[in-house]
Amino acid sequence: MQYLHSKEKSKAFAKQVLERIEKEDISPIPQNYELWYVYYAASSPEVVRAIDIMAANKQKITDERCEELHQRFLSRSKDNERVRSAGQKIQETIAEMSGRVSGVTIAASGYGKALNEASELLSHEGAPEKIRATLNTMLDSTHDMIKHNLQLEEELERSSRMMEELQRDLEAVRKQALTDGLTNLANRKAFDVEIQRVIEDAKTKGETFTLVLMDIDHFKSFNDNYGHQVGDQVLRLVAKTLTDGVKGRDFAARYGGEEFAILLPETNLNGGMKVADNLRKVVQGKELVNRNTGDVLGRITLSGGLAEYVIGEEVDQLIERADAALYTAKHNGRNQVAAAPAPSAAKTK
Ligand code: GH3
Ligand code: MG
Ligand code: MG
Repeated sequence: MQYLHSKEKSKAFAKQVLERIEKEDISPIPQNYELWYVYYAASSPEVVRAIDIMAANKQKITDERCEELHQRFLSRSKDNERVRSAGQKIQETIAEMSGRVSGVTIAASGYGKALNEASELLSHEGAPEKIRATLNTMLDSTHDMIKHNLQLEEELERSSRMMEELQRDLEAVRKQALTDGLTNLANRKAFDVEIQRVIEDAKTKGETFTLVLMDIDHFKSFNDNYGHQVGDQVLRLVAKTLTDGVKGRDFAARYGGEEFAILLPETNLNGGMKVADNLRKVVQGKELVNRNTGDVLGRITLSGGLAEYVIGEEVDQLIERADAALYTAKHNGRNQVAAAPAPSAAKTK
């Protein structure tokens, strides 16, 4: 994250941050400072939203909670830093290697020259001392070349090992950047990429797919009753139910706070309704128990909205249709799934 505020503004934020840290009685460590600075500077809408939700739910702000928020929202920007620095390292390695290779090329061209001179000399009748001297020079050049090449080989091996390590590191960072920290499901960013891919696939193959949006019913009051942390456990449970309940190429993501999206490739609306309704039933069938206290918390339910992709339709329109169907399911009493009608012909292109 970059902080590009004027000195005056930064000072004003700093003051608010320190006052808040004092008021909440949390530790004045850099991590907490950064979190609250981001909050007051409104540099991250997600941080602002998460903290506002906590405040609205009258949740106690503790060091643990701050650490979790920092981990969830701010460590990600550190990942970007890691990607940048890994990229830079690769660039430096390449520059270094190309320097070495051109060093060898120069040495090799010297070698070539020495060879040419030698063959030139040897093609004429020459004094044996001259020939001996030439052979000596050639031997030196040859040793030089062997040394250079061995060195180059070692360098190349070292660099390729380093690049492999960086590649693994980048892959891990990339994966992390596409994963929701709380539920381990694919996050919104991953969903945005995947839905484009699925649309392209559908267009190429001329096949359809179904988008499911699922939202936990009355989750706000659940949080109010049992606290945010128990709410988080429930989000994890729903996420697990969704991943366990879909298979193959199906793709489940955390779309927003307590909303999930599922892409069902090669599945029409009827098929999608069966899958979504089954997921709804499985969630409803689970009796929730507070892990820490053993208290039975009752059940939660899901509402779902589905839309089948129509070739030519824009991604926003598809999502809007699923969202409208979700609204219908909520409106009709929740704990049910609803299907969106096909888009009007005028809207697709
Ligand atoms: P509806 O049935 O209409 O969906 O009602 P709702 O209360 O579920 O919907 P509303 O949009 O009013 O509230 C969503 C709530 O979800 C607000 C917030 O307390 C909760 N929420 C969102 N993200 C998180 C999260 O990361 N953790 C927890 N514990 N709760 C969250
Ligand atoms: Mg809800
Ligand atoms: Mg919602």
